[in-house]
Amino acid sequence: MRKPFIAGNWKMHKTIEEAVTFARRLKELAPRCTDRDVLVAPPFTALSAMSETLRGTGVHIAAQNMHEAPRGAFTGEVSAAMLAEAGCDYVIIGHSERRTLFGEDDTRINRKIVAALENGLKVIFCIGETLEEREAGLTTKVVERQIKEGLKALRNDDIRRLVIAYEPVWAIGTGKTATPAQAEEVHAFIRGLMSRLYNEDTANSLPILYGGSVKPDNMAELMAQPNVDGGLIGGASLEFDSFSQMVMFDRLD
Ligand code: PEP
Repeated sequence: MRKPFIAGNWKMHKTIEEAVTFARRLKELAPRCTDRDVLVAPPFTALSAMSETLRGTGVHIAAQNMHEAPRGAFTGEVSAAMLAEAGCDYVIIGHSERRTLFGEDDTRINRKIVAALENGLKVIFCIGETLEEREAGLTTKVVERQIKEGLKALRNDDIRRLVIAYEPVWAIGTGKTATPAQAEEVHAFIRGLMSRLYNEDTANSLPILYGGSVKPDNMAELMAQPNVDGGLIGGASLEFDSFSQMVMFDRLD
């Protein structure tokens, strides 16, 4: 039904040369990955070179952000069509670093998601609560608001081109992972909500990834949860050996 989905978010790491070296190794692994989705999100500068290197392998290339306008006087920004031209098939939208460091709110994120889908990109939509919100018992409230606002006006067909990444902010880059039970509780809530907002079929085919200090050591137990379909991995995706172990989480030989 849902394939495992293993995604690496490199943030502002790696030169073009380093990215291509990594991509060449990933290319060798790709024939063993046909039963799963594998994705890498390098910095903008390495998108074209990586997509060239990985062409025809089935490995997905994502950008980490985009602007919602098609073109214009937006110094430093990149549009969805430009990303597609650079070889991306996905874009990450709503990452907590974009929300907190760059002031992106739910409305802005919704505009970006709409523009990405209109331009043929698929979207990895990130949501998640802060530690303060969790401790105040607001986790599901926050996640529900982010989903309702972020996906405003989207229809069933749009959701078929969406992946949700649940990333509790307190677990990103901190070494603190949600327990498998904590992750499963929120993932099950998200799937239930998507079923109510859209329909059961759409909700059941939606990949929901967990992100927040995922590493080779904890990947398998997270993946064993019924509603955890994959991982969005930051730090541990930067080294090929660690990323490939997570890609092959169930086939360590
Ligand atoms: C992320 O950046 O999406 C992330 C989950 O980072 P890390 O794996 O380093 O916590």
